[in-house]
Amino acid sequence: MDYKEHIAIVENWPKEGIQFKDITPLMDNGPAFKSAVDDIVDYAKDKEIDIVVGPEARGFIVGCPVSYALEIGFAPVRKEGKLPRETIKVDYGLEYGSDILTIHKDAIKPGQRVMIVDDLLATGGTIEATINLVEQLGGVVAGCAFLIELTYLDGRSKLDGYDVLTLMQY
Ligand code: 5GP
Repeated sequence: MDYKEHIAIVENWPKEGIQFKDITPLMDNGPAFKSAVDDIVDYAKDKEIDIVVGPEARGFIVGCPVSYALEIGFAPVRKEGKLPRETIKVDYGLEYGSDILTIHKDAIKPGQRVMIVDDLLATGGTIEATINLVEQLGGVVAGCAFLIELTYLDGRSKLDGYDVLTLMQY
């Protein structure tokens, strides 16, 4: 399926100079959304994944139906202050300044095989921070799956040695 026809390109959003890839037209098209989720599920099938991890907020949208289809759990990664129980955290760099991502300390058991799912790979900062959290807890990152990869931002360079699937490239 040509998923790109379901992506809306929004110029200068959220700020001047950014060309935002909006996935909501894909999400609100049932067959396209199902097909994209199914592609990620197929990718995961031979990887013996124990749990899916997704960063807020669009990682939840893509990751949860994947975990449901695989009949395994889903663990959310969220900005600091959003998860109610004991967490571990990681600082990660943004274009200006930094931010903090957290995960519940008991979300992943040592040795569990994890697939990280998000909507889009840009600079790779978010996935790098999410991998850091999973590995702090002793999880094994067995795959990373995204709907979209912005190849010109070279997030792949942060994923050397990891198995990566992206359904669309810009
Ligand atoms: P990175 O950390 O790789 O630079 O940025 C990826 C994160 O930012 C993802 O969690 C993604 O949701 C968000 N993101 C950055 N740019 C875009 C975009 O153009 N479209 C969408 N849908 N998400 C984006």
